[in-house]
Amino acid sequence: MQAYAIQHSVGMVKLDAMENPFSLSPALQAELGQRLGAVAINRYPGARIDSLREALKAYVTLPAGYDLMLGNGSDELISLLAMACDVPGAKILAPEPGFVMYAMSARLQGLGYVSVPLTCDFELDEAAMSAAIAEHIPALVYLAYPNNPTANLWDPAVIRRLIAQVSAYGGLVVMDEAYQPFSSRSWLDEIRRDPEANRQVLLMRTLSKFGLAGIRLGYMLAPSTLLAEFDKVRPPYNVSVLNAECALFALEHADVFAEQAQTICQERERLRHALQALPGVTPFRSDANMLLARFAAPGDGSDIAQHVFEGLKARKVLVKNVSKMHPLLARCLRLTVGAPDENTQLLAALKELIAP
Ligand SMILES: *Cc1c(COP(=O)(O)O)cnc(C)c1O
Repeated sequence: MQAYAIQHSVGMVKLDAMENPFSLSPALQAELGQRLGAVAINRYPGARIDSLREALKAYVTLPAGYDLMLGNGSDELISLLAMACDVPGAKILAPEPGFVMYAMSARLQGLGYVSVPLTCDFELDEAAMSAAIAEHIPALVYLAYPNNPTANLWDPAVIRRLIAQVSAYGGLVVMDEAYQPFSSRSWLDEIRRDPEANRQVLLMRTLSKFGLAGIRLGYMLAPSTLLAEFDKVRPPYNVSVLNAECALFALEHADVFAEQAQTICQERERLRHALQALPGVTPFRSDANMLLARFAAPGDGSDIAQHVFEGLKARKVLVKNVSKMHPLLARCLRLTVGAPDENTQLLAALKELIAP
């Protein structure tokens, strides 16, 4: 194994980790400081955690009969799901390229892990998914909606059929909506429309991409009786009082974050169109705060993704080189959408590198 590598980023335009580029206004910083100063840090997390759960339930308009569980980032929830499903022979299945923690959590827990390649245009390969599900009968199937690093939403009709197949034998499907603030669709609408068909679905979200990556707060919604099973493996005080207070504060100012998300979506489209206009660059459509872009193969057989990645880095712009993560990502970089001036800087650097 290799430990999760975090790129050195001091002094860089940081467009590598899908963070929200905006910081709090001085007035909000002062208000938050006061709030955090008053938190009872001598006590174990208690009633404020319940307040946060209530605030999140209101924020998502929780469906009737559903409950909500908190995690120290959704990464913790992903680990807890693997732990809860750890019975002899249990497997986890996910399409790839996808979020690395699904495979990691399975391997660390000693569960089987099955990956199914997406099609070359990053859609779910329904026949391959269905065949793999029938062969392996996975306890958990992960579907990131939209997916990371491809940033696209998958066909809801295909997802409905896969959920039906997995639910029929008592398996579970996790819809991971880490990018919900930037997405045109949410599976929560499907759950509301047809709760029975989604009775085996867990919906996972996080405040990380919303704008609070630093505080580590993820949450998961599911029918109450189902969620209660997973709550059994959750460490009792897994969310800090400081995380909780900060999240409550952010939800009280949800309008500020919604406006930021809107700016990011506008910037995403500006960036996508500008990338499209560059010779040999193909940006893919996105429902997230990132763009996957493929670079044309150079005639000399050199590693174009590494070349562009290094060139950007030399110009103080840090992105993610995903080109070696999966064959389907050949010659691809993942670009997080930043603040307007950061995106302008990224584009200027790319122009220098590609069309000098
Ligand atoms: C970023 C991301 C997460 C992890 O979120 P944290 O709450 O920061 O742990 C989960 N799923 C996907 C698909 C992501 O891209």
